[in-house]
Amino acid sequence: MPRIEVDETLCKGCELCKMTCPKQCIEMSDKFGKSGYFPAKLAKEDCCIGCKMCYQVCPDVAITVYK
Ligand code: SF4
Ligand code: SF4
Repeated sequence: MPRIEVDETLCKGCELCKMTCPKQCIEMSDKFGKSGYFPAKLAKEDCCIGCKMCYQVCPDVAITVYK
């Protein structure tokens, strides 16, 4: 099952990935990440289709997509 991982040390909480995901799989965490922002995270299991749009839009290269 495809999934993403967000590097909390890189994510700046800009929400671009959340706005871009065609399946609305991404939400923002309600806890501060290591860099002091609310990082993106996968909202639910079995949602990601591995399209990599979030990876492509992220300005901080914080997302890794696993297929
Ligand atoms: S890879 Fe595609 S479906 Fe999966 S979280 Fe990113 S934008 Fe959404
Ligand atoms: S696009 Fe990148 S920096 Fe912006 S919220 Fe998503 S993972 Fe974080």
